[in-house]
Amino acid sequence: MKRTLVESGPAVGDPTLRDYEALVLASPDVHVVTNEQGVFRYVSPGCLELFGWEPASLMGRREDQFAHPDDVAVLHVAREKLAEGADHATATYRFLCRDGSFLWTETRSRLIEPDGSGLVLSSMRDVSERHQLTMALKHEASTDPLTGVANRTVLMDRLRQGLRRMERGNGVLVVLYVDLDRFKIVNDSLGHRVGDTILLKMAERLLNHIRPSDTLARLGGDEFVIVAENMVDEVAGTELAKRIIDAGREPFQVGIEEFICTLSVGVASTADSQRGAEDLLREADLALYRAKDRGRDRAEVFDEDLQSRADDRLVTERMLRRALDEDGLVVEYQPIIDLCTGGAVGSEALVRMRDPNTNGLLQPDAFLDVAEETGLLIAMDEKVLADAIKQVSGWRKRLVGTQFAEVAINVTARHLADVGFQKSVVEQLEAYGVAPHNLQLEVTERVLMEASNSAITGLRGLRDAGVQVGLDDFGTGYSSLAYLRQFPLDFVKIDKSFIDDLDQDLANLAIVAAIINLSHALELTVVAEGVETERQLRILEDLDCDRAQGFLFAASVEPSRIDELVHAGRNQIFESAAV
Ligand code: C2E
Ligand code: CA
Ligand code: CA
Repeated sequence: MKRTLVESGPAVGDPTLRDYEALVLASPDVHVVTNEQGVFRYVSPGCLELFGWEPASLMGRREDQFAHPDDVAVLHVAREKLAEGADHATATYRFLCRDGSFLWTETRSRLIEPDGSGLVLSSMRDVSERHQLTMALKHEASTDPLTGVANRTVLMDRLRQGLRRMERGNGVLVVLYVDLDRFKIVNDSLGHRVGDTILLKMAERLLNHIRPSDTLARLGGDEFVIVAENMVDEVAGTELAKRIIDAGREPFQVGIEEFICTLSVGVASTADSQRGAEDLLREADLALYRAKDRGRDRAEVFDEDLQSRADDRLVTERMLRRALDEDGLVVEYQPIIDLCTGGAVGSEALVRMRDPNTNGLLQPDAFLDVAEETGLLIAMDEKVLADAIKQVSGWRKRLVGTQFAEVAINVTARHLADVGFQKSVVEQLEAYGVAPHNLQLEVTERVLMEASNSAITGLRGLRDAGVQVGLDDFGTGYSSLAYLRQFPLDFVKIDKSFIDDLDQDLANLAIVAAIINLSHALELTVVAEGVETERQLRILEDLDCDRAQGFLFAASVEPSRIDELVHAGRNQIFESAAV
């Protein structure tokens, strides 16, 4: 059988055409000639190998009949380009194979005779491998590598699209912010592998509870977001949240162990297509905060109240930033009394913030949460640390001959985790010539529990250097006794709640007595905090408590007043507290 390049073309035998033909036959590509209407006029033999079609079987049929329905437009666009005079056109589309499957091909076309016959010469190349690779890369860029669900970029895209689509007025769009409760503890105690497995399984569970048209994304860590479009109303959103929380309560089987990792969910919804995607996500996040606040394993819906609280927080954050910049933070000191001698042995540094509007001092409960959330806490506590060391160095010099020698600061998990913390403490002690044992670090059990291994190592390092470490708010935590054994401590502070009704509640009395005995057995100094009455003081003295702190002696005062109080001795301290 004779092959001709083009049916109506020049005769076979022309030497140049022979050369072309050899080239075409040797090429791994499939070469085709189509007419103006896209009808095949020549198909090279490689077609059989690549697509499974005998070239003859394609003759007279239109090329777009072989294109994947979704790709027909691509082919037509390439055609139009040529018709409009382009030198060549490229189309990447799926071509139908004999076995019914589709193969990704890249087709480069040009007119054989510009302004002439309208015949088009195309070479088709198999690009399925390259296409798969590109798709894989695209997928990678748009999904969370661990769980395979969408990432933040895709989420925001979908959220924006969803909002835009709402213009047609179909129901509400719901955003659920989902967070695994206490995941960090699971991760830290069972290891990252188990943590990853749980995240993966949780993603699967969440996928089981949403519709195919909904979007599930992971925003890193243990946070997931679900976008559900076309929900009937807000209530449908809350119901979805409830189902998800129920799903979270199912225990996980990891190895031979079973455990539970509950979920907290924040819900925000809108029927307004003009809403911003970021706003909606932030609202769901605020609602999630409240769910965590109210005890986790529950859902909360965003409302105006949350908004106004968020606004308040913003005001506080601005105030705090200004205070940090402009010396608006004030450190007060509350004396700590030695119950044997009645004299002050040291003081606790307590931070306050000046309110620029009233010029009054705000107490920590008005700004500590915001400081923590915004990360300003470290800068704040660094200031307190610096001030405390500076003050104690001054007192050591001015109050020679008295017992007064120590200063205590409150240390948070964040500060402890800060890489510069340990160094900063050591450097400041050296700079002011203060002995390490004159500094006391107060941590709560929660701080110890949340601290990473490296933070704990840092704390140990400081204690090895002589800094005293004590457990604050003792008795309010989880497994109090375990910490007394695990972490080497110097003192414990019995929480004010136990001291409050010491004189009325016999059970409390027993607890306080036990804490004191136990602490003494472990050679720890015991400090009672929040002592307000003489009766409480008498009982504590009877129980052999070492130290006390409270309004009975003095509230927190500015540093210069500490000198007066110490010089005046115990009686004076009593009087000043009464003022
Ligand atoms: P805390 O460490 O338990 O501090 C003791 C709190 O009890 C202080 O409240 C103190 O003023 C108050 N207090 C002391 N004696 C009495 C008393 O007899 N009766 C009553 N009702 N209260 C008494 P403050 O200053 O409002 O601090 C609250 C908490 O804020 C502190 O609890 C501490 O956890 C945190 N905090 C205070 N200053 C700082 C700081 O500089 N940095 C950090 N990270 N946290 C701080
Ligand atoms: Ca404290
Ligand atoms: Ca306390």
